[in-house]
Amino acid sequence: MSLLPTDASLFDEEEAFNFTPSRAAGLQQLKRFLPMAGGKYAAKRNFDFGPTNRNNVSLLSPWIRHRLVAEEEVVDAVLSRFSPSSAEKFIQEVFWRSYFKGWLEQHPSVWDSYQNELAFAIDKVRRDTQLRSGYQAAVTGKTDIECFDYWVGELIERGYLHNHSRMWFSSIWVFTLKLPWVLGADFFLRHLIDGDAASNTLGWRWVAGLHTKGKMYLARRDNIRKFTDGRFDPGQLCTDYVPLDEQSVHPRKLLSVSEQMPDSNYILLITEDDCLGGLSFSKKLSGAVGFAAPELRSQLEVPQNIKDYTTSAVSNALKSVGASQTRVARNSDEVINLVKRDAAELGVSDVVAFEPTVGPIKSALMDVKRSLAEEGFNLHLVRRDFDNLVWPHADRGFFKVKKKLPEFLTSLSACRRSY
Ligand SMILES: Cc1cc2nc3c(=O)[nH]c(=O)nc-3n(C[C@H](O)[C@H](O)[C@H](O)COP(=O)(O)OP(=O)(O)OC[C@H]3O[C@@H](n4cnc5c(N)ncnc54)[C@H](O)[C@@H]3O)c2cc1C
Repeated sequence: MSLLPTDASLFDEEEAFNFTPSRAAGLQQLKRFLPMAGGKYAAKRNFDFGPTNRNNVSLLSPWIRHRLVAEEEVVDAVLSRFSPSSAEKFIQEVFWRSYFKGWLEQHPSVWDSYQNELAFAIDKVRRDTQLRSGYQAAVTGKTDIECFDYWVGELIERGYLHNHSRMWFSSIWVFTLKLPWVLGADFFLRHLIDGDAASNTLGWRWVAGLHTKGKMYLARRDNIRKFTDGRFDPGQLCTDYVPLDEQSVHPRKLLSVSEQMPDSNYILLITEDDCLGGLSFSKKLSGAVGFAAPELRSQLEVPQNIKDYTTSAVSNALKSVGASQTRVARNSDEVINLVKRDAAELGVSDVVAFEPTVGPIKSALMDVKRSLAEEGFNLHLVRRDFDNLVWPHADRGFFKVKKKLPEFLTSLSACRRSY
């Protein structure tokens, strides 16, 4: 099955925003965006003015998603400039990511059933000619829905879409094109630089009416016209919507208790899900190895720009903790081999990785943990304080997290003092 990108480049390279996969570049972008994070963000954030005019949103997701920049650093910087009430909207958005992570962590069967449904849908695309032609038209930007086709090109070329366009795109995919939502979620997950199991799967489920049962998101012509500032005016959208339903139930699973940092020296395993490195835990750090495996996002091809971004993010993180070699493993076996070799050289048996959320990297680490244990090594999956703070409240709707925000902000400022 060929997944051709659109024929010609849509954009002038010189105008392209550069998502450089380093912490320094993320912090620079945070600094650049900061003056906008108050009332201006709240007033303008829903507008997609096009890829060469993105000053109304932060563009921070590629860095935050890989934890090259931490959520609390973003909140901290914003609060150094604005009061919590002036920056309320932006801070809430930052917490949506944590909410989705905590929610998926407590409903892991959603990720499992997404993967099963996706495998089934990919197989069906191969067998069913009607589905195949609809799917091919969608992923190559040949649906004749001008805005949708444009966003396909933007996604493939830039690895980023504005939040509102992600909502319109997924709504059109599910309700107008009537394609399986899992194929659209997979298309996003493979092509977005910020592609993330929690935000993406739950974003798509929210639009389809599966996250908040029976409540879907409708992409409407007048809304697209207004919030693209008149760039698009799609006349042919479906208006006869019925939210999706599913057979599976997803019971809540209690959050596990975070594992502790070991008392002895350890090797740090830096994954693409957490590139902050040993920011506050550097004392006993004896060595570091990396793990980036964007190929695990899908059984379909993950584009080279995504592979390059994640590998460089991990490699830059290794440099930032002073690792003598920046070796980045691409699969579980390579992780095990690198850890065993370093552990023997350094005489340590403990390994620490900051705990990822449910998703491909966490599944791989669970396998690595079991295999290392059989050989006498302990892999500790240590949950960051920020996740420990928010995740327990992310068991139902976002409202519960939103209500806790003042408390979270107080706790975060207390943690800051103890850095
Ligand atoms: C169908 C769909 C799929 C999505 N898939 C992803 C994904 O794979 N990875 C991903 O990081 N985000 C995803 N999002 C969420 C959101 O669209 C992006 O995080 C946001 O557009 C990133 O741009 P920004 O950094 O300029 O956002 P800003 O508007 O500047 O927001 C600031 C930060 O808040 C967080 N944030 C904002 N909106 C959301 C949201 N709706 N959900 C979670 N976090 C949010 C992000 O960390 C973001 O960087 C998806 C949304 C939808 C509707």
